[in-house]
This record gives sequence, C-alpha cells and structure tokens, in this order.
Amino acid sequence: MSEKITFTPISYTGWDSLSHLIEEVNRFNVKKILVITDPFLKDIGLTNKVVEPLENAGYSTEVYTDVVPEPPLAIGEKLVAYTRDNEFDMVIGIGGGSALDLTKLAGVLASHEGNVADYLNLTGTKQITKKGLPTILIPTTSGTGSEVTNISVLSLETTKDVVTHDYLLADVAIVDPALTISLPPKVTAATGVDALTHAVEAYISKNASPISDALALQAVRLISNAIRTAVSNGEDKQARTDMSYGSYLAGLAFFNAGVAGVHALAYPIGGQFHIAHGDSNAVLLPYVMGYIRQSCEKRMKDIYDAMGFSSANISQEEASYKCVAELKRLVEDVNIPSTLKGFNVTEEALESLTNDAIEQKRILARSPMPLGKDDIYTIYKAAFDGI
Ligand code: NAD
Repeated sequence: MSEKITFTPISYTGWDSLSHLIEEVNRFNVKKILVITDPFLKDIGLTNKVVEPLENAGYSTEVYTDVVPEPPLAIGEKLVAYTRDNEFDMVIGIGGGSALDLTKLAGVLASHEGNVADYLNLTGTKQITKKGLPTILIPTTSGTGSEVTNISVLSLETTKDVVTHDYLLADVAIVDPALTISLPPKVTAATGVDALTHAVEAYISKNASPISDALALQAVRLISNAIRTAVSNGEDKQARTDMSYGSYLAGLAFFNAGVAGVHALAYPIGGQFHIAHGDSNAVLLPYVMGYIRQSCEKRMKDIYDAMGFSSANISQEEASYKCVAELKRLVEDVNIPSTLKGFNVTEEALESLTNDAIEQKRILARSPMPLGKDDIYTIYKAAFDGI
C-alpha cells in the first residue's frame, strides 16, 4: 500500500523563531498584509510582535480582530468578505487555532466566489479549485496543530464542520514557544490535552503509518512529560518548548493519519454546549480509549511506554488498561473536569449528541473499533457519570 505524506509548510520552530518572519515575508512579492488575530492577543501586545517588524520593514499592515474562540460560520463569512473587498496580498495569522483557522479560510477563499457555507465539508456544494493568498501562520497556543493542517474548523448551530483542501495549507509556519508563555493554566491544559489527543488518535488510527507513528509517539513523549509543569509554571521555558514541539509533531501526525472517535464525539459537545475544543477532547479521551481499548491493545501499550512508564514486566492487556488510567490521571492533574456533568452537559442531551456524532462518518471510519450509535451513547453515558 502506498500513502501520501504531507510535511508542509516550511516551518521555523524553537525559541525566538519569530525572528525569521521578515526574511520569509520578503520571499513573496507583497505589499499589503492582513494580520488576523484575536482582540485579547492584540491587547496584551502579542500581535505587535508581528506588526511592528512588518511595519519597520516597510509593509503596509492592517490588523483584523473580529475573531472569537471556536469561531462560528458567520465570523468566517465576515472575514472572507472583508479580505475580498480590501484586496490584501498576504494573510498572517497569529493566535490559537481559532485565529489560524480563520486565516487559512480567508487566504484561500479570497480567490474564490460564493459563501464559506458553500465550501463546508458536510453540506457544501462548491469545490476549492485554486491556491489563495500567501499565508503565514504563527500559533500562540500549543494545541491544535492548525499551522500544519489543511483544515479550517467552524462552529455551526449544534455541531462543527470543516472546510478542507490542500490549498488551505500555509506557506510558512512559525512555531515559537516564547509566544505561549502568557497562556493561562486553564488554556495551557485544554490546548495541551488537545495536542495529546491528536497524537494518541493518530497513533491508533486505521490510517496510521510508520511515519505518522514516529511523529505521534514523540509528541506523546514530549507532551506527557511537560504538560503538568507548563500548567503549574507557565514561565518554564523547557516545558513551553516541549509543548510547542509536541503540538507541532502531533499536528503533523494527525494531519497524515487522521483523528478518530474522541474527535467525532467531541465536535457535538463543542457545538451544543460551547465547550472549548481542547476541553471536549480532554473529557472524552479516557472514556473513548477505555471503550476501544481491546481493539488496539498493542498500540496502547506503546502509548503507555511513551508516556514514560514501563510495560516491560506486564502483559499487553494490563499495559493498555494502565494507559487508560494514566490518560485519566493526566487530565485530572491539569485540573480539567473528568466528567461531562462537570461541564454542565445534561443527561437529556446525550441522545442528540449521539445523533450528531454518528454523522461524523469520515472521522469515525478511522477508529480501530467500529463505533455505532449504541457504542457512542454508551461512551457519552460513561463520560457523563464518570465511570
Ligand atoms: P483559541 O484560539 O480559541 O484560543 C483560546 C483562548 O486562548 C482565547 O481566548 C485566546 O485569546 C487565548 N490565547 C491564545 N493564545 C494566547 C497566549 N499566548 N496568551 C494568552 N492567551 C492566549 O484556542 P485553540 O484551542 O488554540 O483553538 C481552538 C480552535 O481550533 C477551535 O475552533 C478548534 O475546533 C480548532 N482546531 C483546529 C484544528 C485544525 O487542524 N485546523 C485542529 C484542532 C482544533
């Protein structure tokens, strides 16, 4: 079997890698740049770390801040219209996955006609056919891996959907852990477990390959070793650096191998209860992995080892049980509620969450254990009750 592997874009990683911004912008023949960010990041001066060097280098910049976490479709429509109307010749996103996903969308749909809704994966009718504006992505969370994927996630009324095409891939990613120092503990935890979930799901995915395996296991090693310190002491340079590399590697892993059951069940929770993407993944991770454990015991043993434990003297089955327990402990240690109740999800909603999750067929198809409606309801119920 052959496979397609995508290691795009050109990337700069590591402390102070943002210093490469201008040399990269200079490679493109551009003058007028739209910088897309969220209002909080502008207020705390993070956005200026991009805008100031651009202006000093003679570029004309405009800062667009109409970005909210887990952006709804309407925010995407507004930004795309604005980008088309103002004829920018480059987009730069600085922020978490929300700002980066919107930047990719604006970049590619600037060169297309119609609404964003026309290009949604589940319900859209139009195809992306050409590359858009040159795009640079600069993450300020260590979580989504959006800087290396071809997906833009949008919130709909009761669930989420994506616009996806390789033309959404950025031209350049700058993954500088220094930009994550200001992340508060709660966001560090949620985004960090999001990245861990990407790595775990890529590793157990039916589409996993030796290449995505290498990326995923190294991401598990870095993230599980660093996340507790990054949450408790956000100033710790090494922990921030490891989280930054971990989320980048996890992004590349899941972009190539895909995510599976955790994400399929998390999307409806995000859509119906407006819970941050990282939190919805985190609360479900131990329950989904506990449910599908038998279908991927060997892989869970590997994850257990990558988390820093040793399966040398125990059976594969025991290691897989311990892996689930350690994932649960990690989520609890970074103070994320460990039940759906803890996020005020109601028991009555479990039925409609199940109905929405079952629609995520493309994602569910990658689960090593087939997950039907009854399975999904059972997992939600276990996560609701915390058993
Ligand atoms: P986010 O972008 O929504 O940001 C969360 C909060 O953190 C915001 O309030 C933001 O202002 C704040 N923040 C960000 N960086 C900060 C910093 N350095 N210091 C202080 N505060 C900071 O969070 P996210 O989890 O990075 O992104 C979530 C979005 O990404 C969701 O819409 C999710 O569906 C999407 N997503 C996309 C992909 C992909 O491949 N494209 C993958 C996973 C998730």
